[in-house]
Amino acid sequence: MAAIEMEVREYKEIEELKAIEGFQPDAPFTQDDYQKIIGEYHLLNKVKCCLLKKNHPCATEHNYGFVIRLKNGIATLIGNSCANDNFEAATALRKDINSFRAAKTRRQKLEQIKNVLNNENEIIALLKSSEKTLKDAQKTTSIISQEIGSETTKKLREMSSTRNNSVQIALARTKTSINEKTKERESHTTKFSATIGFIAGCEIFNTSSWDTLQRSINKLRDALSKAKLTQANPKSFSNQKINSVALELNEISNLELLSKNMSEANLAFKNNNPLLLGYITENKIEKLNAAKYSLKLSEKLSGKNQARALIEQFETKLKAQNNADRITTQTTDKSYRRAS
Ligand SMILES: [Zn+2]
Repeated sequence: MAAIEMEVREYKEIEELKAIEGFQPDAPFTQDDYQKIIGEYHLLNKVKCCLLKKNHPCATEHNYGFVIRLKNGIATLIGNSCANDNFEAATALRKDINSFRAAKTRRQKLEQIKNVLNNENEIIALLKSSEKTLKDAQKTTSIISQEIGSETTKKLREMSSTRNNSVQIALARTKTSINEKTKERESHTTKFSATIGFIAGCEIFNTSSWDTLQRSINKLRDALSKAKLTQANPKSFSNQKINSVALELNEISNLELLSKNMSEANLAFKNNNPLLLGYITENKIEKLNAAKYSLKLSEKLSGKNQARALIEQFETKLKAQNNADRITTQTTDKSYRRAS
């Protein structure tokens, strides 16, 4: 408890030192004369250390050290290094220095907590907006699941974990020619794949990113309530506890980042061409659903016929762009190799 009760005084000017009752800047003393720490000094100009070494004062000049009270009532100075090097760890001075430093850290942490709580409204706003961000992203994914289907949703989740968000289709080009020798008509088919786009923002389908965001929200909310308790009654909290509360409040910047990323991913996902979602699986129903969903988003009639027409129009364009006769199947890697 000594650390908690200890006053943390810091002196930055020589004038402040001179104002200390009984201050003598050149009063030599021995270990046995030490009574207590008055404070710490951090000065621009150096002052002489007054510790007696072999009958003469140390006189090393220091910018940093401690102002101490001697048993005879005199206030004097000891440089930081002398206090560490010439006093045994078990001495009163060394113990007091440790207590002084602990008290100083404690004061800094309490100050830090206070500064954060001064912006409590901003933290509450961050918690609310982060919860909304999470709900919005989850809503987007459930709309895709309902409107397009479970295979597409599953594939999007997979894309988010493999970080491969390209949409590829397999195409074929057939050329016919006359064989010079046999004079017969021959056809040559070339199969190839093409990337037709990318699905931005599929991270929102990664449920572990939801958990990460939710955990951060909970952690900050918890840290906030602990910080308020600490501020209301600091004496009932140990140095260690105060230190950890101050540290937990760092979650603010983590949550800001997580929430921003999720919100941007959700927006990016919404800006995708929904037709592309029809080409990430081989499910024909879901492809049709993607076309229906695309029509619905642009407030057009979204029946089966309109959807088929839209797909045809889209694929005609894809074939033209890739100089292909037909699209054999969609999707990447394994499924493409299987198809060819
Ligand atoms: Zn010294």
